[in-house]
Amino acid sequence: MIVVMEEGAAEAQVQAVIDRLVEMDFTVHRSTGVVHTVLGGVGPEDRVDPKEFEAMEGVRECHRIMSPYKLASRHFRPSGTVVDVKGVKIGGDEVVLMAGPCSVESQEQITRCAQIVAEAGGKVIRGGAFKPRSSPYSFQGLGEAGLAMLREAADACKLLVISEVMDAVQIPLLVKYSDILQVGARNMQNFTMLRELGKVRKPVLLKRGIAATIEELLLSAEYILSGGNYEIILCERGIRTFESYTRNTMDISAIPVVKKLSHLPIVADPSHGTGRREQVIPMARAAVAAGADGLLVEMHPDPDHALSDGAQSLRPEQLMELAGQLRTIASAVGRRM
Ligand code: PEP
Ligand code: MN
Repeated sequence: MIVVMEEGAAEAQVQAVIDRLVEMDFTVHRSTGVVHTVLGGVGPEDRVDPKEFEAMEGVRECHRIMSPYKLASRHFRPSGTVVDVKGVKIGGDEVVLMAGPCSVESQEQITRCAQIVAEAGGKVIRGGAFKPRSSPYSFQGLGEAGLAMLREAADACKLLVISEVMDAVQIPLLVKYSDILQVGARNMQNFTMLRELGKVRKPVLLKRGIAATIEELLLSAEYILSGGNYEIILCERGIRTFESYTRNTMDISAIPVVKKLSHLPIVADPSHGTGRREQVIPMARAAVAAGADGLLVEMHPDPDHALSDGAQSLRPEQLMELAGQLRTIASAVGRRM
């Protein structure tokens, strides 16, 4: 249930609607926009007549939301959400570049990566310390030591940090070292962890699952939103199809679809989306042209010796070249980078 207040509705009028919703057993989520305050009520909406709310002072309109997700729906915040991570805004005019290696491997490697990302105009450095590998014999990440290296490298270059949280027990560590907590594709439906992330007051980047529909992605976001954490960035990272040439099939169409259905920002990860270095660049360009709010790209100073995902990691000079092209594309679609 969505209640849209009149422009300039008084605080007492907003409070009266909240009280009425609570009385009727709704959980209320408030979105205070520049023009309108919107109240999202999660509860027994089939038992409520929207006209009853429309008759209240200061209420402009009231609707039942038929989609299975309520707080992730565009109706909840029609103007869109801008996630502000220490001043870096994701979902606004600017297209934000996040780049770095698949895994943190050493202090030297991650420090070099941070310098390259900063030089390319990136705002966020990525790097996994807990790695979800298909084989238990593959490199699993450096854990807390890796997070500390990542933080040090980022701070030296004034970058923000994004890193993956693989399990709910790791949340405190990620909160300590990282500015954005990444939920990987394999964990998109780890509902226990999503609920825990709802209690955290740090931005979460939620990747689309390997076999997840867009609706399932938005329902996973709803788990986090319903816990009260509204700082969510969605990420298209390719889905599994019958095509075997690329590692996954990069679903560029998910970007405009998510923009229509949801207020949440969406970024694109063309590295996991294609799995091949030479395909990453064109897909990155396509994602920005399609309206992505940012890019998450793997880059390694020496990809041939990377401990994970070397084949899809850009070489430093490729990241530089891509960043230049993205600036041109961003301005052609009314954004900046
Ligand atoms: C990663 O970002 O390195 C990663 C493991 O991504 P995904 O969860 O999309 O496979
Ligand atoms: Mn990777």
